Amino acid sequence: MKLENHLPTRQLQALDSAHHIHPFTDRGALNAKGARMITRAEGVYLYDSEGEKMLDGMAGLWCVNLGYSRPELVEAASRQMSQLAYYNTFFQTSHPPAAILAARLAELAPGDLNHVFFSGSGSETNDTNIRMVRHYWASLGKPEKTVIIARKNAYHGSTVAAASLGGMAFMHAQGGLPIADITHIDQPYWYGEAGDLSPDEFGLQRARALEAEIDRIGEDKVAAFIAEPVQGAGGVIIPPDSYWPEIQRICDEREILLIADEVITGFGRTGNWFGSQTFDIRPDIMTVAKGITSGYLPLGASLISDKVAGVLQEKGGEFAHGYTYSAHPVAAAVAIENLRILDEEKVVETVRNKTAPYLEQQWMKLAEHSLVGEARICGMMAAIELSPQKAERSAFAGDAGVAGLITRDICFANGLVMRSVGDAMVISPPLVITNSEIDELISLAIKSLDMAEKALSEQGLMKAAK
Ligand SMILES: *Cc1c(COP(=O)(O)O)cnc(C)c1O
Repeated sequence: MKLENHLPTRQLQALDSAHHIHPFTDRGALNAKGARMITRAEGVYLYDSEGEKMLDGMAGLWCVNLGYSRPELVEAASRQMSQLAYYNTFFQTSHPPAAILAARLAELAPGDLNHVFFSGSGSETNDTNIRMVRHYWASLGKPEKTVIIARKNAYHGSTVAAASLGGMAFMHAQGGLPIADITHIDQPYWYGEAGDLSPDEFGLQRARALEAEIDRIGEDKVAAFIAEPVQGAGGVIIPPDSYWPEIQRICDEREILLIADEVITGFGRTGNWFGSQTFDIRPDIMTVAKGITSGYLPLGASLISDKVAGVLQEKGGEFAHGYTYSAHPVAAAVAIENLRILDEEKVVETVRNKTAPYLEQQWMKLAEHSLVGEARICGMMAAIELSPQKAERSAFAGDAGVAGLITRDICFANGLVMRSVGDAMVISPPLVITNSEIDELISLAIKSLDMAEKALSEQGLMKAAK
């Protein structure tokens, strides 16, 4: 079987149904209709095996920041594969891509995040972070500081440890999660959970939940707090302005480390190189992955402060942890090239000054649609909340997420990849999207919302809860 001149779609789907178990997918439901076969992509567009074109409003899974088919990234991979396809970094050895990428990340990262531990994904990186912060406190003679505070509805990955850090109840329900010594506080989700509080009141209240949780557990037992600057998979939840300054104050006053999970918000997504700059966060450790290679190859990294790295070096001895593919040379070479292009083509500046402001102007108009209860946006990540009764911002009476899935399927059929998270619709397009492609995205979104509203009415689903 060859990948070129592939089999007819039906046969591919049959092979896929018979043998391929998909992530986060109900296999029975998928196999009843067959997976859409994506065969190629260019810029912001995907093409399937039937030749249908789709605008990828999700940049793959929040990662294809430079868009598809950049020849420079392909060539960087090919060159590095010919020269040194693989070598490890365990045996007191390194290689040029590892050293150069680590130095470049240290240069780009804010503050004194000058040290890098490499992994193969965001999940692995957060596993590393758990072990590293516990080892850090143990090295300082405080081995009882083990608890990591995270947030409900956070997403930090899908390994046993990363899914435990995450606060997704439906994930915890399978496989006996979370593991010990991880706790979750409430999220700063103003639209869904604030009641009558103003955004600023609510942001302060949710930030102070961290202080209360530290006191409940005992500061002498808490190792770290982890959070995404903007929750991505949880539904592009942008915290009120009051939230991060208060979190930062608490982290400064208490003896705990702050981990910013920037797997989505890193490398330009919020209009700055890192979400920590957008929200003025000073993390001790930052998680990055996804956009570090624009998704062309798997790579993750913990960016670590002078303080943490210093203690580990002076007192930690051997850190008994690492991955076969830590600092994989081909992935690192692609990352170096990806960062070069982001920098030299001024992609982040263009997002900040031109395309994200334009997207914001157009996206916020969706709030006027009769099916939309709220529109929100931060840089190149955005959400709309679907509501059957927008004036009251009501939820749907039926099962949560049904309206979202119906709308998502209509978007797909109309040639727009927009993802549903419950009954919110989210986008995170490639950072290289142009203003005219934004116009196309918005008009496809409006067309899809019109069709979704009609479909929901016909199915009797436009009823408000309670
Ligand atoms: C996707 C994601 C992860 C997990 O990354 P993987 O590469 O899928 O393991 C972790 N944190 C955040 C914020 C993410 O969005």
